[in-house]
Parts: sequence; C-alpha cells; structure tokens
Amino acid sequence: MKALVKYESGVGHVALREVAEPSCGDDQVKIEVSYCGVCGTDLHVYEDTFRNYPPVILGHEFSGHVVELGKNVRHVALGDPVAVLPASAVVCGGCVFCRTGHFMFCAERRGMGHGINGAFARYAVVRKDQAYKIPQDLSLAEAALSEPFAAAVQAVTELTNVRLGDVALISGPGPMGLLCLKLLVAEGVKAIVAGTSEDELRLETARRIGASVIVDTNRQDLSTVVAEETRGAGVDVAFECAGAATSARNCLRALKPLGQYTQVGIFGREVSLEFDLIFFKQLRVAGSVGYTVSTWERLQKILDQRAVRLDNLITHTMPLEQWREAFDLCLNKQAIKVLLSPMN
Ligand SMILES: [Zn+2]
Ligand SMILES: [Zn+2]
Repeated sequence: MKALVKYESGVGHVALREVAEPSCGDDQVKIEVSYCGVCGTDLHVYEDTFRNYPPVILGHEFSGHVVELGKNVRHVALGDPVAVLPASAVVCGGCVFCRTGHFMFCAERRGMGHGINGAFARYAVVRKDQAYKIPQDLSLAEAALSEPFAAAVQAVTELTNVRLGDVALISGPGPMGLLCLKLLVAEGVKAIVAGTSEDELRLETARRIGASVIVDTNRQDLSTVVAEETRGAGVDVAFECAGAATSARNCLRALKPLGQYTQVGIFGREVSLEFDLIFFKQLRVAGSVGYTVSTWERLQKILDQRAVRLDNLITHTMPLEQWREAFDLCLNKQAIKVLLSPMN
C-alpha cells in the first residue's frame, strides 16, 4: 500500500512509499483509513523538531471503517465507522501512569505517526482499546478531528475551571485554539481570541464560530481590548495555544489576579517570561498535554450529543498524494484543518 513515510532522521526525508500492508493480531483491529488530519506534530516530524523513529508512517488524527478483527475483539464489528485514540499505541501497561489512565507520561510511550506507524496510509492496525465506534450519522471527516478535540476537551473541561460569566482569552487561533473556543462557546463563556496579522483567516473563523471579540495584535493593543471587555479587571482564564513567547506574555498580562493560565501550545525551546506575574497575581498555571482515557469517554458523549460540531473547522480535504501541498497550507496558516484521504 502507499503510505507517507519518514524514512530517515533529519530535516525532510518524508515521501510517499510503497510499504507492506499491516496484518491484524488477535487483539487488534484493522482499519481502512477514510481521513487523516494534518497536525502540527506531522510538520514537526518533517522538520525533525519532534522526536520520531524512522522509518515510520506519519499521521495520527484519523477515522475509518473496520475491515478486519482479531478473534478477541467484541466491541466493534466489521464495517463499523471508528475514530482512534493514537497516543497510547505503545505503553508499558504497568507503571503508575498507565495504571491510572495517564498513559501520556509512561516512559515507554510511543504514539502513532512518529513513534509507531500512523495513518497516512490506506490501512492502519490498532490495539482494540484504541478503536472507538462513532455514531452512524456523524461524518467520518468530523470524526477524524476526535484526537485534537480530545486535547481541547482536557484543557478546557478537565484542567481549567471555567464557567458561565467568565471571560476567557485564547491566544493563538490555530486548530487547537479554535477547538478550545468551540468548547468555551458551548459552555456560554465569553471568549476573546487573539492572533497576529498572519492569522487573518483563522481569526475570521474564530469570529464565525462564536468568539465575542477577535484581536489582531499587530494592529490592536490587546491590553486595551481586555480592559474594555472585562471592565478593567482582566480575563478569568487564558489559554496559550500558539506556543509563542509573545503570546504567553500577553496571556500573563491579560489575566486578572487569581486567574488561571493553561498552556496548550508547545514552544519547543526555552522562552523568557515575566514569571513574577504568576506570583504577584497569584495565578494558577497548568499544562495540558494530550488526554487520558476518560477524556475520550467524555469526548464520545460530546460528539454523540452533537453538543459541539467540528465540521466547519475542516477547510480542505485532499488525496494523500497532495500531502506536500497540504503541509504547506498548514505551515502558511492558510488552512484550519486539512484532511488527507488515502482512498482515491
Ligand atoms: Zn495531532
Ligand atoms: Zn507505563
């Protein structure tokens, strides 16, 4: 089968290659991939700024149909549409983090798409507990956003206390920021979304999906806007979703005393921040990395109830062959979510 492979360490070294079709073990499920989203992680693996283990098939945000089942698999059937929890593909199963559902911190963990073969390919094989059956009437394209959405569900609903009447700042309107926005809007929270002039398309999308205010920080002074929108108090919560030092500084400054700061983006390097603001404002700071198994249970309920719709974040759907164009669209911020389909 054709697959998008990181075939060697270093910058680049990614190409469509012919690889062997994976076989399905007794406790596994073989999935014909319908859609797999391009994620910042894929771009980092391309650039070699995210740990990867070549040769490895990229892609981890996917959905598809079950085409083969191991003999010990009961919870899904042939033909079922499924979404996949990709981050727990390789875990030890025995450490304190694995045993408490916090597999993200297992020392042996390797996720799909960088640590073990992913889903920019016709077929993917996963452990049975990674496959989640989705409602028949939820589109497979929307279901392919389950994985990044899970990360937003953890950041917004599990690790940050935010409720009706609060004002939230989302700094960085990329896919993660917009997924967080979707949840905040669903919870009735007033959201200010900030980005730079490069983010024009993404800020417009933020406005369309329910942001109360959008701010282009190259043209507007964020502190002034925050003061206007909060009667001078500052925001209750801030989500740093850009992984950029300026954005993090903006969040610390925009927060009111006793506010909460949640780190969702990755800087990828050491940054300089006014750390004393955390002390003087007595802020609560949390990081949110990935999700737990229970996050996925909540995610299933949110999607089942159609409490949040994700389809209008998909700006492009392209055949797998156009992966380079898809990566460029994401790098240049000309897209929100780009899905690649290996089917055609
Ligand atoms: Zn991702
Ligand atoms: Zn473990």
